[in-house]
Amino acid sequence: MNERSPVESLADIRHEFGEHGGVNMSVEASTTFTVMDPSTIPEIFEGGKGPDEGGCYLYGRHYNPTVYNLARQLAALEGSEAAYCTSSGMGAIAATFLQICESGDHIVASNTIYGGTYALLHDFLPAKAGITGTLVDINDLESVAKAITSDTRLIYAESFSNPMLRVANVPALARLAHGHGVKLVIDNTFSPLLMTPIELGADIVVHSMTKFISGASDIIAGAVCAEEKVIRGMMDVQMGPLMLFGPTMDPKVAFDLSLRLPHLSLRMAEHGRRAAIMAHELDALGLDVIYPGLTHHPDHELARHLCRHDYGFGGVLGLDVGSEEAANQLMERLQNGYRFGYMAVSLGFFDTLMSCSGSSTSSELTDADKAAAGISPGYIRLSIGYTGSLNQRLEQLRGALADVGLIKSDPTPD
Ligand code: PLP
Repeated sequence: MNERSPVESLADIRHEFGEHGGVNMSVEASTTFTVMDPSTIPEIFEGGKGPDEGGCYLYGRHYNPTVYNLARQLAALEGSEAAYCTSSGMGAIAATFLQICESGDHIVASNTIYGGTYALLHDFLPAKAGITGTLVDINDLESVAKAITSDTRLIYAESFSNPMLRVANVPALARLAHGHGVKLVIDNTFSPLLMTPIELGADIVVHSMTKFISGASDIIAGAVCAEEKVIRGMMDVQMGPLMLFGPTMDPKVAFDLSLRLPHLSLRMAEHGRRAAIMAHELDALGLDVIYPGLTHHPDHELARHLCRHDYGFGGVLGLDVGSEEAANQLMERLQNGYRFGYMAVSLGFFDTLMSCSGSSTSSELTDADKAAAGISPGYIRLSIGYTGSLNQRLEQLRGALADVGLIKSDPTPD
């Protein structure tokens, strides 16, 4: 993978000046926009005029200048022609599936994906839209190929999977998808900047910007990054799921997020640095730690090959402590005894967040699907934050592990 520095990659993001020359973009709060000539309105409806065709706006659910500016920054971040910012990650994912698939169509998806996406594919879409899904081990390319039928329209995977941190072989999946005339859609929520799936051959990237891109656990947001014609199709006034379901981002949210993109690279680098140090520490203590940066992780070489090295191997790690009871005890000590982090779902926050995946963000999965994905009841997902000093955090971690008997005693050298 190329070695673009964080600064270079952020320099690719187009800067928007405010209305009066402000160094930040302006917030355009209007939901509706006037025209000087009545004939312009039908032209906008027909797609002949728009933000890039005469600077024309119509209605906020369609385009808003502030949200559109953020979308262009997301497109630059992901190397796509265009993007659309949504009010949540699920809004982006659902709209993408509904754009590509019609009733009767089929999706091949990774068996380790976020529980909400699993429920959408496994329960909601078959019942409500007649769109079916087959879940496969996405790293077993033969199984992926076998699952493709004449009705398949897309292959779906997460770049770094939630919660098991399997790494998608995007170039191989893209070759497979394109060989069968289907699209490859990648959820890049866990690895913005770390991986750029469109550069590696994916057709569409979706994001939950609620996570690392926001970085403060205060905003629910998402994005779809794709070719211009795909995004325009999704915004079609007659058949576009973005227009008709309306998962539109609020302009004030778009403005807030625009102030966070410039330091995303610094945050990702520090999340990744600390997660790597903690993963190595837990590994050295003989614990069952899952982190793509560890040489014994099944996708370590793949991650080394596909990821930008400035960001380590991501800010999330997994720790399997054997049982849900042991997981709960450890998280309780880490939060209430040592203030190491918080027992909360989600990820990408500046503080560490810990959750027991099987009983929280993957609880939608059937027991059989949890087992197939490798999610055991004692699996804790930790999104490593960057507050406090690293040494202090390592001491807290060792202290809590010792308290619950997972290591003998604090083995810190004098
Ligand atoms: N994709 C992944 C990988 C996630 O982890 C999540 C949420 O946890 C989502 C999508 C959904 O995002 P949102 O909560 O912003 O709708």
